[in-house]
Amino acid sequence: MPPPESVAAQTAIQQNLKWSSAKHGATFTQSKLALPPSKKYLVLTCMDARIDPAKAFGIDLGEAHVIRNTTGSPRQYTAHDHFTDIPIHPSIQAGGCAEDALRSIVISQQLLGTNEVLLVKHTGCGMLTFRNEDAYKVIEGNLGSAAAGELRMHNMNFMPFPDLEKAVMDDIMYLERSKLIPSDIVLSGWVYDVDSGKTKKIC
Ligand SMILES: [Zn+2]
Repeated sequence: MPPPESVAAQTAIQQNLKWSSAKHGATFTQSKLALPPSKKYLVLTCMDARIDPAKAFGIDLGEAHVIRNTTGSPRQYTAHDHFTDIPIHPSIQAGGCAEDALRSIVISQQLLGTNEVLLVKHTGCGMLTFRNEDAYKVIEGNLGSAAAGELRMHNMNFMPFPDLEKAVMDDIMYLERSKLIPSDIVLSGWVYDVDSGKTKKIC
């Protein structure tokens, strides 16, 4: 098998990665960073392409964990979280979703020593703009009735949310109530404005 360097890029995106890798590697000097984040904190935010967490939130390489997601896990809706016995309100969760990130947060804190969480949702989040019924319709149109049937079979919930600041506060409350998050972990909730590039504290 040839070494990875000789495998051709198949798309412009892959080519971009190869070029960027060569450029990055040519001047890279931070090979001695420790595995645990040096500033012992974690940022949870949306996967939205308009957010650059390093720039917008002031994170240098090696300083923090950054977890990015969108809605909660596509799974069967249950009235209470299986592990925490916390009532789940799928209508108020979205990008930068605490419930979906819980496993990563626990690993970050318990295995890699972080002790503070910044939870950042944002304006113009895609999750603000649709309802479950709309998502089902789009998926049926794009992927066909068999795919839509599978969605219904799983009773899949995309967890859109109507109120941004409430969504931030609810997610912080979710973490506060979880027995997996020790009480001495510092939690704060924020909203990033994709128009101004600024982030404001909510709670
Ligand atoms: Zn978002």
